[in-house]
Amino acid sequence: MIVMGVESSCDETGVGIVRWNGDGTCDLLADEVASSVDQHARYGGVVPEVASRAHLEAIVPTMRRALAAAGVEKPDALAVTIGPGLAGALLVGVAAAKAYAAAWNIPFYAVNHLGGHVSVDTLEHGPLPSCVALLVSGGHTHLLHVEDLGKPIVELGTTVDDAAGEAFDKVARLLGLGFPGGPALDAAAQEGDRNAIAFPRGMTGPRDSRHDFSFSGLKTSVARYVESKERAGETFSIPDIAASFQEAVADVLTMKAVRAAKDVGVDTLVLGGGATANSRIRSLAEQRCAEAGITLRIPKPRLCTDNGVMIASLAAHLIGNGAGPSELSVATDPGLSVSISQLMR
Ligand code: ATP
Ligand code: MG
Ligand code: FE
Repeated sequence: MIVMGVESSCDETGVGIVRWNGDGTCDLLADEVASSVDQHARYGGVVPEVASRAHLEAIVPTMRRALAAAGVEKPDALAVTIGPGLAGALLVGVAAAKAYAAAWNIPFYAVNHLGGHVSVDTLEHGPLPSCVALLVSGGHTHLLHVEDLGKPIVELGTTVDDAAGEAFDKVARLLGLGFPGGPALDAAAQEGDRNAIAFPRGMTGPRDSRHDFSFSGLKTSVARYVESKERAGETFSIPDIAASFQEAVADVLTMKAVRAAKDVGVDTLVLGGGATANSRIRSLAEQRCAEAGITLRIPKPRLCTDNGVMIASLAAHLIGNGAGPSELSVATDPGLSVSISQLMR
């Protein structure tokens, strides 16, 4: 069975095509992404109207490129991100997917973007066992217990304020590293000393929630540090700040993810979401999972950030588990949650 996935929840128009093998695995046939990220750079963040217009221009050409790359005339099923995401951006992908599904007369699946960030790992690393997933992106930070991709996902914890990727973007802006901030901050940190400045580790006190996160205090602490240096007329090292900030984020994320795996009693941790493209989050997760005897699974960076393949792969798993198609009348759901029974609509 060949499944096409369409993604338009933020600033990437993604169309992916996979072949479902029926054994919990998929083969990747096409992965086309058109990003409007450059159009948002001068505003310092994603502008919803600009993103919607860019999706409108890119959606049909990106679908055509994916079909050509896969050598497929029409897929057997068409899946789309129904939420969470930007309302106008979601509408473009959903309207296009509905139109194609109707014209091709194939089943239509409206799926959850966040579930896609978890399921995409199966493309490289095979079927997922019961595991803990750490999902970190520009809009989300979640610790999840995923028993089986066909079953409801249980949320163990989430951020009480900023998402981890959002903290990367805000600190990068503060340091004048531009937009998108995550990759720029990661690059700057390569030249810095991660132990130079002891930034706070939010939500790690003995009375704090074991599985929740907080990053806004860390962001403020970086701002205070820069302000105090400027006021005192002292010089400061951007690479050291970047590396020390990145270390604080990676330290808390990986410590809590390993702890959650132990609490739940699983021996596999899977990472997903755009911020898991971060080099220090990846290396510290590797180190800590090795120490704890936990198998770590991380998709390659290209599949960590938003793409259509993740949507196709989640739909393939749901279909493989017996899910029937969505109604063509289903509405976009910008605030869709990852927890419990919300993997598709
Ligand atoms: P979601 O709806 O899942 O929150 P999103 O729009 O945030 O989606 P993603 O592609 O999943 O999109 O994640 C983008 C985020 O990942 C941005 O905040 C970006 O700064 C961050 N990011 C990307 N690469 C890196 C990196 N190397 N280091 C840190 N953060 C990164
Ligand atoms: Mg993006
Ligand atoms: Fe995402």
